[in-house]
Amino acid sequence: MYIVQIASECAPVIKAGGLGDVVYGLSQELEAQGHTVELILPKYDCMRYDNIWGLHDAYRELSVPWNGAAVHCSVYCGWVHGRVCFFIETHDLANSFNRGRVYGESDDPMRFALFSKAAMEFLLQSNKRPDVLHCHDWQTGLIPVMLYEMYQYYGMDHLRACYTIHNFKHQGIAGPEVLAATGLNRPDYYYQPDKLRDNYNNAINFMKGGIVYANNVNTVSPHHAWEARFSEVGCGLQATLEQHQGKFGGILNGINYDMWSPQEDKHITAPYCAEDLSGKALCKKALRERLLMRDSDKPIVCFIGRLDQQKGVHLVHHSIYWALSQRAQFVLLGSATESSINDMFWREKHHLNDNPDVHLELGFNEELAHMIYAGADIIVVPSNYEPCGLTQVISLKYGNVPVVRGVGGLINTVFDWDYDENLPEEKRNGFVFFQSDTPGLESGLQRAIDLWYKNQPKFQQLQAQGMSYDYSWKDPAKKYVEVYEHIRA
Ligand code: ADP
Repeated sequence: MYIVQIASECAPVIKAGGLGDVVYGLSQELEAQGHTVELILPKYDCMRYDNIWGLHDAYRELSVPWNGAAVHCSVYCGWVHGRVCFFIETHDLANSFNRGRVYGESDDPMRFALFSKAAMEFLLQSNKRPDVLHCHDWQTGLIPVMLYEMYQYYGMDHLRACYTIHNFKHQGIAGPEVLAATGLNRPDYYYQPDKLRDNYNNAINFMKGGIVYANNVNTVSPHHAWEARFSEVGCGLQATLEQHQGKFGGILNGINYDMWSPQEDKHITAPYCAEDLSGKALCKKALRERLLMRDSDKPIVCFIGRLDQQKGVHLVHHSIYWALSQRAQFVLLGSATESSINDMFWREKHHLNDNPDVHLELGFNEELAHMIYAGADIIVVPSNYEPCGLTQVISLKYGNVPVVRGVGGLINTVFDWDYDENLPEEKRNGFVFFQSDTPGLESGLQRAIDLWYKNQPKFQQLQAQGMSYDYSWKDPAKKYVEVYEHIRA
């Protein structure tokens, strides 16, 4: 099968969170299973160009109809760890993808509408006719709309669209100017409640468009699919998902064990495996040295992730002090886009600066993330909601025992050491708590820290059990292929 992935991120060239990992990892596994995969991304100024091999111009004169006129674009092609990627450079007056960052601009909906339109024009003009277009998140929600309403009439009638939602919170809300710009026009038609009209506001909703028009829609874990339909986690799209329930489901994300394996990781001090954890002790020592922390006989608890309300920042904050009070050390790696959250963690960083048992690293640092996964003993993931969550899955592979809140994909991947009645002890891999409050978090974290102090052999057994889980892309990719085959039939 010939599949084109269209997305705003792909690790390791451009990654703001899990979306980048998913786009890369799924593409790699689909290729390994014998399919042809190409990726289309925006050409950002802030990409890691050192991770692209052989970048060259592939289609210099792409004229993209836009706002009744045209925007001149150029398409570059390069290989990202063997994956063929097309990067669209837009020469628009707004300089849409030369902003020094991926998201957070006031004209984000217009930027990604332009990218989506350019991606469709690139396929059309270069005569690419994949079997399936796989689009991701709100940034590409207009692609199934344009495919169905416009491009199928230009000879792209056998293409099918699969749409994956990684986060319901960000949906892409815009006014009618987006319709005029993309050539969808006819606001009266698209503003109907069964089309693109937002379920609450008098506005266009990109994600709703993706749900309504794609041939198949999914989110990134089975439990989150259920939550999105039946709870506020659907962020206002519950009724739309209900209406389209026949084509909606959940497929758990995998991770890419070429990138995330303690046996092969180039960023860590020593390799290790479940049978021999001595390398992990060296990684722990190296982490402390790197972060100028005290070398002592204590467990290291960590948090890695965006510092965002979604991630339960109040509990992340609480876990730092609580872990310290329980004789553990704490390492945090996170970045915040909201200034109030950013300020709060900077204040904490200054406050804790002289404490040798804690380090807060504020910013995005891929290499340090690898060192922390390898060097820490326990990771906390106290999310308010979590579509899938990758940090707990990566942690399992690194023998870093997860303490998670029982929501979304966390509950599909972490099984409580003490209380999971559905699994025998030898299949359990972490600790789960349910309430989003400090007693809830403490109940999970205390059990993990206690096990580390009171029963090292059992703690190591738990680490080894987590490391033996296979959350690779093998099975999820097969499920995606089934979806692709279904929508092609
Ligand atoms: P989300 O997609 O909601 O951000 P996920 O848990 O699905 O969260 O994926 C997070 C990914 O981003 C993981 O690969 C994690 O290691 C990485 N990550 C998150 N924050 C940072 C950071 N500050 N520095 C380095 N890597 C990070």
